[in-house]
Amino acid sequence: MISANRRSGRLVHFFFSGVIRLYMAGKQLLKSGLSFPYDEKYVQVVESIVKTKKGYRCVRCDNEDQQLFASFPCARCGRICTYCRKCVTMGRCSECNPLVIWTGPIPSTSFSSPLKWSGKLSPAQQLASDEVCHAIDRNDSLLVWAVCGAGKTEVLFAGIDLALSHGKRVCIAAPRTDVVLELAPRLASVFPSVDMAALYGGSQDRGKLASLTVATTHQLLRYYRAFDVMIVDEVDAFPYSVDPMLSYAVERARKPTSSLIYLTATPNEQWQHEVKSGKRKAVMIPARYHRHPLPVPTFEWCGNWQKKWRHHRLPLCVIQWLHARLSQKKQAFLFVPHIEFLQQVVPYLQQFHPLIEGVHAEDPKRKEKVLAFRRGHIPILVTTTILERGVTVPNIDVAVFGAEQPIFTESALVQIAGRVGRSAQYPTGDIRFFHFGKTKAMVKAKRHIVRMNDEARKRGLLDE
Ligand SMILES: [Zn+2]
Ligand SMILES: [Zn+2]
Repeated sequence: MISANRRSGRLVHFFFSGVIRLYMAGKQLLKSGLSFPYDEKYVQVVESIVKTKKGYRCVRCDNEDQQLFASFPCARCGRICTYCRKCVTMGRCSECNPLVIWTGPIPSTSFSSPLKWSGKLSPAQQLASDEVCHAIDRNDSLLVWAVCGAGKTEVLFAGIDLALSHGKRVCIAAPRTDVVLELAPRLASVFPSVDMAALYGGSQDRGKLASLTVATTHQLLRYYRAFDVMIVDEVDAFPYSVDPMLSYAVERARKPTSSLIYLTATPNEQWQHEVKSGKRKAVMIPARYHRHPLPVPTFEWCGNWQKKWRHHRLPLCVIQWLHARLSQKKQAFLFVPHIEFLQQVVPYLQQFHPLIEGVHAEDPKRKEKVLAFRRGHIPILVTTTILERGVTVPNIDVAVFGAEQPIFTESALVQIAGRVGRSAQYPTGDIRFFHFGKTKAMVKAKRHIVRMNDEARKRGLLDE
C-alpha cells in the first residue's frame, strides 16, 4: 500500500517536472510569475534590473532610457524599488523580481514532411524558396526582398517544412497582431499536423512553446534561446524599424546557432546599400506572382492645399480624380497625412457621395469599415498610413494627398503603391501622388518601383 502510494507520488512528481520543464524550456520568466518549484539545475536566476553608469538597465528589454524607469514603495521587498516601464505590459521587471532563465535542454519533435500544400511557386519564388532552405540548413541569415504581391508567405513553406523535419523550432515574428492573426491560420492549414502557437497581447497560447510559433515581436521578450529558425516579417514596418528593443528581443529569443530570415518589400537605405555591396546576403523577388509589372506612381502638383483647405476648398485636380473614380464606379483609397485632416475632409467629400468613409488607427469601427470596403459598399475610403500594408482589395486605384508630408517615407509610399494591381484579374490601376513640392522620398519610392520592374524584365519574370 505504502509503496504504491510512493510510486504514484513519484509518478506525480515526474509528471509535474515534465510539465514544468515544458513550461519553462526556452523561456526567461519573472520569478514572481512562477508559483511552482522548479529544478535549480536547469535555470539561471539573474537580476532583471541592473545598475549601470547611466543609472539602470532592463535585462529583459535592454531599456536604458532613464525616463522609462520608475520607483515605487514595493510590497514584495518592503523598499523603494525600481522597475522598467518599457516592458511592463509583459509583467513587471523590478529590482526584487529576477528573471529565471531556462538553461536546460529544450525538447524537440521531428515531423516527417509535414507540409500539405499543392500550390506551385513562380520561378522567382522558387529561387527565393531554395535560398531560404539553404539558409535554414546552414544556420545562416538571409534577407528576402520581395515586392508587394510577390507571394512571400509561400516562399517560406519549403524552409519551414525542412526545419520541422529536422526537429527544429520555427518562429515567425510579425510587427502587429493583425499580421499574426492572418498568418497563423494560413500556416495551420498547410502544416495541419504541427503544434502551433499564435502569440499576441491577450492570446490563449500565452506561454506555449510550440514547434511552429507566430508571434508579435513584443511577445518574444518571454523567450530565451528557444528557436532554431527565426523569421522576421516586414522587418521595415513600424514598430520594428524604430524600436531597438524588438531587435534585441529577436536576438535573445533565437538560439546562438540558428538561422535568421528577414522578409521585406522595402528595406531601409542602409540595408539596400549592404545588399548592393554584397555585405548582406539577399534574394530578390522583383515581380508579382501574376507576372505583371508594378504600377508606377504618377506625380501631380496640387499647389498649397493646406492653405486652400483653410477656406474649405480642395485642389481641382484632386476633386477631378475622385469624380472620375466615382463616375467609373471604381473603388479607391485616398491616403491623407493625419487624422485631424481626415476627420475634416471626410464630411466634405460626402457631398460627392454619401457613402465615402474615413478610417484611422484608433477608429473603433476600423474592422467594419475595411470589411465594408472589401465588399464594395464604400466607393472611396479615406485613410491614414495604417492601411499602407496588409489590406488587399482587387481592382482599386490609389491616391496620396499631400504626398510631400514627412509621414510619407520612401517605404510607406512603396507600400501604398503596392496596394494597386494585386490580383491577376485586375493587374493594373492608377497610383497618383498629389503633392505641393516633390520630396526625396517620393522620387526614391518611384525609382525603387521602376528598378524592380527593370530587374523583373531582365530576369524574364514579366509577360508584357
Ligand atoms: Zn521590490
Ligand atoms: Zn524592460
